[in-house]
Amino acid sequence: MDKLPREKTRRLSIGGVSLGGGAPVRVQSMTCTPTSDAEATLAQVQALVDAGCDLVRVTLPSREAIPSFTRVCAESPVPIIADIHFDYRLALAAIDAGAAKLRINPGNIGDWSRVDTVIDAAGSAGAVIRIGVNAGSLEQEVAERDDLTLPEKLVASSIRFVRHFEKRGFSDIVLSAKAHDVPTTIETYRSLSRELPDIPLHLGVTEAGTVQQGTIKSAVGLGVLLSEGIGDTLRVSLTADPVEEPPVAWGILSCLGIRRRGPELVSCPTCGRTQVDLIPIAKAVEERLQSCTKPISVAVMGCVVNGPGEASDADVGVACGRGTALLFKHGEVVGKIREDEIVDALMAEIDKL
Ligand code: SF4
Repeated sequence: MDKLPREKTRRLSIGGVSLGGGAPVRVQSMTCTPTSDAEATLAQVQALVDAGCDLVRVTLPSREAIPSFTRVCAESPVPIIADIHFDYRLALAAIDAGAAKLRINPGNIGDWSRVDTVIDAAGSAGAVIRIGVNAGSLEQEVAERDDLTLPEKLVASSIRFVRHFEKRGFSDIVLSAKAHDVPTTIETYRSLSRELPDIPLHLGVTEAGTVQQGTIKSAVGLGVLLSEGIGDTLRVSLTADPVEEPPVAWGILSCLGIRRRGPELVSCPTCGRTQVDLIPIAKAVEERLQSCTKPISVAVMGCVVNGPGEASDADVGVACGRGTALLFKHGEVVGKIREDEIVDALMAEIDKL
């Protein structure tokens, strides 16, 4: 079988976290606290790590925020990525502050000499740079070309930047080229993976929307790409508390069997055969599983049609009858319980695994 594109990309180290070259697909998100408030930012970094982030991005928007950003880098449990726009001096300050990676759009940093100063400083410090091209902020020269589609513009701009960095002797590059619509995202990243097969790709659908729409867009867009082996790290962007992003990213990875964190809940949609109040039971199990990190499957099934099959395939499961349920563990019936005992009985078996 041909190697997956993600296995062909360069292996990078971001403050000790491997990325690309077949490393686990990394989950990341971004803080939304004022960076000048170190306490609040560190608390959010920790919350994002608890929610499953391998890496966290923090903006460095001003010189005033440098001391606080420095503290965040020093005390964060995971490597920090600095998000920099416009001012190359802030990129240099972020490197000095201990950022393991920078996210810059070279097109908005200014002339090449400033970009080169950043490239050289990152090279000396061993920091990685994500070149972040965005459909909303393409370089004017590329944006104005009528002969190119939007994916072609994103790819042309990306290639131009990557070639410049490489000519400068810098190869610790991650690349993203984001758009807010799914077909553009898919076409762009497929093309980047073909044109720049060794560059690790950061996937994302930008400005994807609120939780429901953003989850759907990210699951479809990033799911298609990841299923084709494209993508080394991802950020799900939601108009929501950022701690809602990593679980969606993990959900996408786990549905595709790429990376698993925590349990998978298999539950039926209920129908006219259901003889227990299954929906609150499934919701209560889901809630109680939030703090569980065991990579197990848990089935909550409404009746004896598909129930015993699914429940016995799962690590732990129930197949319900009239006000009762059969409790399964690793394919064996281990008890018959009342409807009001289902959640606690499942959790007790899960605790023993
Ligand atoms: S498992 Fe049973 S109750 Fe659930 S949807 Fe299927 S047939 Fe209906």
